[in-house]
Amino acid sequence: GKTSTFVNAANSDYARASQREAIQAALIHVHRQLGQTYTPIINGDRVNPREYSESLNPSQPEEIVGRVGLATIEDAEHAIRAAKAAQAQWQQTSVAERATLLRRAADLLEAQRHELVAWMCYEVGKVVAEGDAEVSEAVDFCRYYADEMERLSSGYDRNFPGETNHYHYQGRGLAVVISPWNFPLAIPTGMTAAALVTGNCTILKPADPAAVVAAKLAEILMAAGFPPGVFQFLPGRGSVIGPYLTQHPDVHLIAFTGSQEVGCRIIAEAAVLQRGQSHIKRVIAEMGGKNAIIIDESADLDQAVAGVVQSAFGYSGQKCSACSRVIVLESIYKPFVERLVAATQSLNIGPAHLPSTRVGPVVTAAARDRIQEYIAKGQQEAELLLSVPVPEMGYFVSPTIFTNVPPTATIAQEEIFGPVLAVLRAETFTQALAIANATAYALTGGLYSRTPSHIQQAKAQFAVGNLYINRGITGAIVDRQPFGGFKLSGIGSKAGGRDYLLQFLEPRVITENV
Ligand code: NAP
Repeated sequence: GKTSTFVNAANSDYARASQREAIQAALIHVHRQLGQTYTPIINGDRVNPREYSESLNPSQPEEIVGRVGLATIEDAEHAIRAAKAAQAQWQQTSVAERATLLRRAADLLEAQRHELVAWMCYEVGKVVAEGDAEVSEAVDFCRYYADEMERLSSGYDRNFPGETNHYHYQGRGLAVVISPWNFPLAIPTGMTAAALVTGNCTILKPADPAAVVAAKLAEILMAAGFPPGVFQFLPGRGSVIGPYLTQHPDVHLIAFTGSQEVGCRIIAEAAVLQRGQSHIKRVIAEMGGKNAIIIDESADLDQAVAGVVQSAFGYSGQKCSACSRVIVLESIYKPFVERLVAATQSLNIGPAHLPSTRVGPVVTAAARDRIQEYIAKGQQEAELLLSVPVPEMGYFVSPTIFTNVPPTATIAQEEIFGPVLAVLRAETFTQALAIANATAYALTGGLYSRTPSHIQQAKAQFAVGNLYINRGITGAIVDRQPFGGFKLSGIGSKAGGRDYLLQFLEPRVITENV
């Protein structure tokens, strides 16, 4: 096919004084706007809800980042009716026009880059450099899916004497996007962009702890020109409006990213044929991980330690791609673990907005408490090796390392979604791979090795959607590392990759005798 001309957005270069000044100015500017009120947007109108959710700054929870109106079930029904009414027109809108709107959204995201980084920093405790990379990813999703839809739009022809055959795609109908809080900009942007550009009217239901950033995205999409009814913003309680949306007979497609528990529930509920429903729903569900990095005796330990520390403790381990297990060959166990501890101890932990901070807080008090329970459990199951001191104020959890963790321990099997790393021993490389594969997830994985046969074996046997060799396992880039897993990590083909949009489309073939 056509060679790709797609170019990834560039991150800010904070080595340059002008860029450092720009982000500092944005942090101050955005700080003055904390505490404002945001509302659902239904059919182009801002609705006034009865109830609001308060989004707090996890670095300084006395700061209210914003109050976000909670949509009710009636609001959800209005949104679905508006989407249904807009669907025929949107589906007939040319691909060129849909792609233009998406590229306009990308330009607006780029123009507001520093403010968006500041909002993420205050609302979900993401450090500046990681927020900046996330804006790039959001921009990339818009531009990449615009290109991809143009690539797909021509379909293909197979013509014979007396017969023409035309293969092409159309939108599926009404899409519901349900996003998580941990990539509060990139993930809702990616799923929403894909659903819209393929011709589906789209309702975005964001995660509660990240609803202000999602409201900023909604403003950008409206400003880009997506018509009322085509894109609607529906913040609300996931446990209330979530099931209403996913069970609704008029919904055709659900794009979900979040926990395995909620994902499986949505898959089950969406499979039930409702009264009046004359189609099967398509569910795309990207879920959790229990990702491992293997360190063999030939690994470059400088690289390996740096890669494991960043993958395990970056954004306090709150990435679906994060490393939560490191499997170390017996022969280098001791030196590796010593250096891992030293590197983790030197992490700068603090409020997310400070330029010196490497590791910020976790997202909410509830998340902190849940992670603490896992740490308590880990103390029964394994040896607590390191717990780094953290600030008292804010929702901080100590970067924590457990050693001699049995592969079947809870902390070696369940997704903790926090700064907790389990170190496991392996006698042989084959055993290390077996341990790595012995969870229900298959999202990311990594190997540090300079042994060609081990690298070969990992390529063939390491059961993960994204395998990284001799580098960290987080930070996938659109088009370069299309992202997503299998087993209980999800159903769906990779975000930011060539098959992604096909899931949002219905293929058709028209045969004509001529
Ligand atoms: P979550 O608790 O599953 O929530 C995700 C979304 O589902 C939120 O918008 C939530 O709304 C909504 N929701 C909750 N209950 C629902 C229901 N019964 N029906 C419909 N929607 C419902 O996940 P999270 O804590 O936001 O995100 C962390 C998880 O996401 C981790 O497991 C992580 O591994 C996974 N993740 C996976 C990927 C990937 O690409 N594979 C990427 C990022 C994150 P409320 O917030 O209002 O409850």
